[in-house]
Amino acid sequence: MSDGIGDSGAMVLNQPAVLAAALEAYVAFDATGRVVAWNPAAESTFGYSREQALGRSIEDLIVRPQAREAGKVELAMLAGGLPGLTRDRRLQWPAWHADGHEVPIEMTLTATDEPDGQIFHIFAHDVTTAQRASRFAATEAAVARGLAEADSATAAAARVVEALGTQMGWPVTELWAVDEERQLLTCLARHVEPGRDLHDFAVETLDPGVALPGLVCADGTPHWIPDLGADTGSVRSLAGSRIGLRVAIGVPVCKGRQVLGALCVYGDRVEDPEDTLRGLLSGLAAQIGQYLERRRSEELAIELARTKDEFLAMVTHELRNPLASITSAAGLLHDELDGLSRDEQRHYLRTIVRNAERLSVMAEDLLDLARLESGQLAINPTTTDLCDILHESMRGLPALDKDLTVTAHLPDRLPLYADPVRIRQVADNLLSNAVKYTPAGGTVTVTATTDEDRHRIVWTVADTGIGIPAAERPRLFRRFYRASTALDRRIPGTGLGLVIARAIIERHQGTIDLLDLPAPGTTFLIELPTPPP
Ligand code: ADP
Repeated sequence: MSDGIGDSGAMVLNQPAVLAAALEAYVAFDATGRVVAWNPAAESTFGYSREQALGRSIEDLIVRPQAREAGKVELAMLAGGLPGLTRDRRLQWPAWHADGHEVPIEMTLTATDEPDGQIFHIFAHDVTTAQRASRFAATEAAVARGLAEADSATAAAARVVEALGTQMGWPVTELWAVDEERQLLTCLARHVEPGRDLHDFAVETLDPGVALPGLVCADGTPHWIPDLGADTGSVRSLAGSRIGLRVAIGVPVCKGRQVLGALCVYGDRVEDPEDTLRGLLSGLAAQIGQYLERRRSEELAIELARTKDEFLAMVTHELRNPLASITSAAGLLHDELDGLSRDEQRHYLRTIVRNAERLSVMAEDLLDLARLESGQLAINPTTTDLCDILHESMRGLPALDKDLTVTAHLPDRLPLYADPVRIRQVADNLLSNAVKYTPAGGTVTVTATTDEDRHRIVWTVADTGIGIPAAERPRLFRRFYRASTALDRRIPGTGLGLVIARAIIERHQGTIDLLDLPAPGTTFLIELPTPPP
């Protein structure tokens, strides 16, 4: 094969046409390691032109800097006629590219005896794509295994980020979730490579739209940050860049069209093209989305079963108490009627009436709940007046057996186009709650007025009572939900009134909310549209 001497004085092999046309990189070198042949495929695989490569040392060209000493030892063995680690074998190893990055290659090394001495021949091809495919497949399998084995959503999140981080070699991998109740994003799980200190990059919550997870969740599309250090608009990108992170990619985790969260990875180098990474992560995010959806329906089924149990327990308990009072008062009246004074008789009758009323309110609430759930809660609007309704409701408050001050700040009239019976029901519920949940010595205040444009009536019911902890407030309008403040004090109730009140107000195109005011007490704010002009 040898037929000439190159400019550098090295022997140069004339590449036959087949080597020039081969897709396989072909590189030949002599026993001193000097390159004597370099075909076009070697040019594209290793980044040096034939002219640049010929006559140079093979180690300097294609061996990673940290492996060059070992390369020299290998060359010495090959030159000494020993097989070394490479001769006559097919192997994969990370070679080095002229641009200064690793190229995974599969190669064979063989030797021939030429007239001027031994020549070594390398045939090689880049296996980046194949390696990536198997790395991605291993990652997908690890994530699928993690999801299948996890027994809770939290455990699944931890397994996913760990599988992604370790399989792909990403220093930081995170799974974020949208917390709708608190209007922010929380970090469900994070995997950090050992030995990397995150400093102020390690945050547990983010506001919507802020940083990579916030952006991904805000518009529901993948985002790619090619250089965290240049992303000067984001405090978190800069914090990432300070701990050596360079690139980041985040994809949304969705359930149908609803964005549940974001899967975000941070790397210190770009190994794979943006679109392949995005493809891998989007596939994984879809798996996670399906998992969370499945999990949610399982949890809902459990919650439903629990709600049913709680419902039965509550109904039994709430029925039993008033019934027991009625039975014992009626029994006493029956047995001892003649021996009881007039006042005592009245006292027992009042007990019977009060408890019977409590039972009938409960029966009505349960019926309303059933109507609500079947979409049959009827509203019959007419021209009415909120002030009248509120005055009547206050007059109807059960005689207070504790010392409370109930005051109202109302104008003379507040015309309203609404169902007076249903609005009265809301007023009764809010007022009786305010009275029930306010200890002696407190105050209950009702206000109502129109807004500046007279388009809406703004009505508040405030008390100075036991209050509702801020963290529990978002759950307040759920069926059967009772705040810990009420449960701790064993104040009777069913957790039905507010659900029905909200449904009634919403059927009037109004809103009812709890105001976020400092303790003590609770303030409900209702807004209702005024009659059409
Ligand atoms: P109930 O009072 O029968 O339990 P509601 O649906 O009317 O049912 O109220 C739900 C829960 O909200 C109550 O159990 C109580 O924990 C809380 N709550 C409602 N109003 C007040 C209030 N004015 N002060 C404190 N807690 C309240």
